Amino acid sequence: MASKQQGPTAAGAGATGAAAAGRAPLRPANRGAANPSAAAAPSAAATTKPSAATTTTTTTTKKETTTTTTNAKVWTLDDFDVGRPLGRGKFGAVYLARERSSGYVVALKVLHKQQLAASRVEHQLRREVEIQSHLRHPNILRLFGYFHDRERVFLILEYAAKGELYKELQRSGRFSEPKAATHVAALAGALAYCHAKHVFHRDIKPENLLVGLGGQVKIADFGWSVHAPSGRRRTLCGTLDYLPPEMVEGREHGPGVDVWGLGVLAYEFLFGGPPFEAAGHQETYRRIVRVDLQFPEAPAVSSGARDFVRAMLKRDPASRLSLDAVCEHPWIVANADAAVLLHAQQQAAGRRAAAAAAQTQTQQQQAAGGAP
Ligand code: AMP
Repeated sequence: MASKQQGPTAAGAGATGAAAAGRAPLRPANRGAANPSAAAAPSAAATTKPSAATTTTTTTTKKETTTTTTNAKVWTLDDFDVGRPLGRGKFGAVYLARERSSGYVVALKVLHKQQLAASRVEHQLRREVEIQSHLRHPNILRLFGYFHDRERVFLILEYAAKGELYKELQRSGRFSEPKAATHVAALAGALAYCHAKHVFHRDIKPENLLVGLGGQVKIADFGWSVHAPSGRRRTLCGTLDYLPPEMVEGREHGPGVDVWGLGVLAYEFLFGGPPFEAAGHQETYRRIVRVDLQFPEAPAVSSGARDFVRAMLKRDPASRLSLDAVCEHPWIVANADAAVLLHAQQQAAGRRAAAAAAQTQTQQQQAAGGAP
């Protein structure tokens, strides 16, 4: 499979934080890892709204100054017992941590302001925090809150006990069809949930996915996501291997970007590497633009799986399978875990019902002569 590429993300481009190194390691409690619900989470953090519109206050303590939102608890490092490092990224490190009053286990991501500023990614980080803190889905890593001191920004994240999906894929080479279909169905549900909120991820790849204690895949990185109510953008972002033709050609793009990304991911799960991988950027670019999709003889993959990948990787975004239709595709239905499939199908049915109700309401308003 492809070597791990550093995504062009803010938090996801990872880094090193010396904040808590050297403290006694924690025993990971199942509680925090298995149940990311707001009920069990640090309560105030769950309601933190780090939006620009929110009032901010500054609290000066003996040690340092911490500024955060007033409509929620003001978190400081003293609220956490910080344990072993879970990993490192470009801007800091991620530590296992326990919120002291509740005992809730979280992952604390430490980002160094100086490095964020040097790379000019503060705006991107702000957007990532803003978007991720508002999303609630079992396959999207929760961002419970954030705080900062003079040098660092701390993100309070759901702890994903089984770590990076990328490493699991590297270890096993590729996934079985049931495992691939299960992850794809779960991710299609999570992405459809995002799209319903006009959020496009735009950087779906194994490096941006973590795994929860029960094996649930979780989208962990929203560094390149965008809230685009108009539905269309022109910025080039994401990793080349996962970019769709409309993005590499610099054309306008919309939600179809994530369908393509999920198709590339399905291929990588099944075959162990991305479909348009080539010796250089130019060649990868050329293969993407032509949709030069080839299925190797080995490993043997079912015709249903190949049909699914083909349905996702269409040059025309409008011809791609919709995210809600993913959980109806015969290969997904035959292979995905029953509970994951049912959840995705129920969510899709809920979205369809909401869309139909909205349409009926609009028609009624128009018929009554009111504003649409
Ligand atoms: P990042 O800076 O987001 O790339 O994170 C660096 C590494 O820390 C990742 O590659 C993971 O191994 C680990 N990590 C990040 N976030 C979490 C989390 N929420 N739970 C468990 N491990 C994490």
